[in-house]
Amino acid sequence: MILEIDNLVKHYGQVRAVDGLSLSIGEGEVLGLVGESGSGKSTVGKCVLRLTEPTSGGIRLAGRDITHLSRRAMRPLRRDVHIVFQDPYSSLNPRFTIEQIVGEPLLHHGIASRREAGGRVAAMLEQVGLRPEMRTRFPHELSGGQRQRVGLARALILEPKLVVADEPVSALDVSVQASVLNLITDLQREMGFSCLFITHDLSVVEFLADRIAVMYLGKIVESGPTAQIFAEPRHPYTQALLSAAPVADPVRQRERRRIVLGGDVPSPVDPPSGCRFHTRCPLAYDACRTSEPELTDPRTSGHPVACHLVTADHVPDAAATR
Ligand code: SF4
Ligand code: MG
Repeated sequence: MILEIDNLVKHYGQVRAVDGLSLSIGEGEVLGLVGESGSGKSTVGKCVLRLTEPTSGGIRLAGRDITHLSRRAMRPLRRDVHIVFQDPYSSLNPRFTIEQIVGEPLLHHGIASRREAGGRVAAMLEQVGLRPEMRTRFPHELSGGQRQRVGLARALILEPKLVVADEPVSALDVSVQASVLNLITDLQREMGFSCLFITHDLSVVEFLADRIAVMYLGKIVESGPTAQIFAEPRHPYTQALLSAAPVADPVRQRERRRIVLGGDVPSPVDPPSGCRFHTRCPLAYDACRTSEPELTDPRTSGHPVACHLVTADHVPDAAATR
């Protein structure tokens, strides 16, 4: 396993951003971590990168426990794990040229001299579909899509084992989102890195992720192979997310009944009792308010769900209530 997260908890004061989350990512595997804003998914990414200190739980990167590593001890491991940020503009230093930005990790880790770095940067730019002449430009001279390609080049130049991508396309125009997603897919296949791909939009990870984990208020409510999640979403929340996602096939789109969730995501300061989703779940019943469902896999099919209504021979249908 490249990444193993065991019962991770991260509280910011009263805010229970992540509240007992476990997941793992194998070599060359892409995991899509999906949830609405406020679900805690970005906090998971920040804990993995040690940009914030976990409150409790364990994180192992390529077999090494990094949960409480100091900044200094973490430094050599920064070669192995890299992040692609949501906003490609604010994450690129405006005073640096593209060559300086993309080559910086090589110099920082003492992997290449300034002269050697130039050649590697040119090759990397080509790999992300940018002309080598771009090297001398500054971030403000580039389009949003080009800047995100620069962000990718910077993240990949050290050939990391794991890439954490936090909403890497959501700040981009819809017209360029697909091309950047295709590029990430191609690069992942060529280079074989593992990826924790964080997104609020399930449809973004349909063709990229091997597995999907759906988060709600600091916990995973369902996870499984991508094809299974799309074919048979078991948790009412996943069913609702999927019902709102666009599908390419017009027949499937017409057949699908839209599940509209009432209200907003409750505050993570004081999450609902019992099942955290009960305040918005169309199928909620008495037990949901008092007893918290465990994440279990009754069919032992690598597809665990946290809902009282899911059993070995029953999958609830949140669209059937109205
Ligand atoms: Fe809905 Fe109850 Fe299942 Fe939670 S446990 S998802 S409230 S039916
Ligand atoms: Mg976020």
